[in-house]
Amino acid sequence: MKTIAILGSTGSIGTQTLEVVRTNGDIRVAALSAGKNIALLERQIREFHPRLAAVASEEDAKALRTATADLEVEILFGEEGREAVATCEEAEILVTAIVGMIGILPTMKAIEAGKDIALANKETLVTAGHLIMPLAKQHGVRILPVDSEHSAIFQALNGENGRKIDKILLTASGGPFRGRTFQELERVQVEDALRHPNWSMGRKITIDSASMVNKGLEVMEAKWLFGTELDQIQVLIQPQSVIHSMVQFVDGAVIAQLGTPDMKLPIQYALYYPERRFLPGARLDFEALGSITFENPDPETFLGLAYALEAAREGGSVPTVFNAANERAVSKFLKKEIGFTDIYRIIRACMDAHRKITHPDIRQILETEQSVYDYIESRW
Ligand code: NDP
Repeated sequence: MKTIAILGSTGSIGTQTLEVVRTNGDIRVAALSAGKNIALLERQIREFHPRLAAVASEEDAKALRTATADLEVEILFGEEGREAVATCEEAEILVTAIVGMIGILPTMKAIEAGKDIALANKETLVTAGHLIMPLAKQHGVRILPVDSEHSAIFQALNGENGRKIDKILLTASGGPFRGRTFQELERVQVEDALRHPNWSMGRKITIDSASMVNKGLEVMEAKWLFGTELDQIQVLIQPQSVIHSMVQFVDGAVIAQLGTPDMKLPIQYALYYPERRFLPGARLDFEALGSITFENPDPETFLGLAYALEAAREGGSVPTVFNAANERAVSKFLKKEIGFTDIYRIIRACMDAHRKITHPDIRQILETEQSVYDYIESRW
């Protein structure tokens, strides 16, 4: 029986991970961590009986201790709590379903403790890929992608030699604003941006999909995960979201992974890898689908993609600036404090104001993140 721990169990990926656990019935959950949703975390504790759980604040930890006084579960909080969940002795795999750069430190601790990582948290590789990948190698742990595109690439590479990749074709739905002009984007509202055509996801990543920042983050993630050069990664719009990504090999062969848009597939694949299990749910109906179409992305309108590629080319601390600026800007957009295209303006301003650190260590990455937040708060 496998044993796992989950950072971010109350979110979109976290709850779907627990659905996979519930359906299969042969995975033990040793530890769970959440942010503020203690009502859901309590229900999860009652159903999955973890030995350990963590929340963001001390106050919530106290409330949860009272609510679960009849159970044998230790409740921790804050950074210490997240690290305890990440390194929990019984777990072999840590699922990083937490959102934001807050996921980096506990992921590093888990790698040092020898846990395989089922990686959903993009920010980890985007900002600290140069530290995470060598650390994983050093400790002999596997980074198993949960993001659907990276899982598709991972599946396409099964039994193949990664060095024979010619290019990665990273597919994108184009989001709810595909085909719009920049002027049209100026007027879109939070509710419009949250209406993703194909995927149901957390709020932050849904906005990132609408701005195409998400695809930019995924390019950076793919570069680290699969050890390719940036110019070997091509973003391709595939509006029906049935091809989750493809790999073109040196002989011209292209291997793609297709399926209905369901995050439980990549989650389950990561948890049981290399085993492939039955997954209930809809299957692709090619006749009903009729056609699969492709378009080039429009980086002149969707500046999130253009700026991400620029940040990726610059490297060092610049991807951290890109990511932190976007994280804070999206939070302001969701609170309706700024408009949609202001997300791009904020990212641009932060990248322009930054003096690059070529090979940042984890302390410098976190300092860079904080300095970006301070810069944004002082100006917007
Ligand atoms: P959600 O917003 O749905 O969930 C985020 C999780 O992180 C919640 O459990 C939340 O807890 C927790 N969290 C947030 N802030 C804190 C904090 N300060 N301390 C501790 N826990 C915190 O996000 P998603 O599930 O959509 O995404 C998670 C990650 O996976 C992101 O990095 C995203 O980019 C990536 N991803 C997501 C995909 C998807 O389909 N959703 C697809 C591919 C990647 P609480 O709710 O209790 O506050």
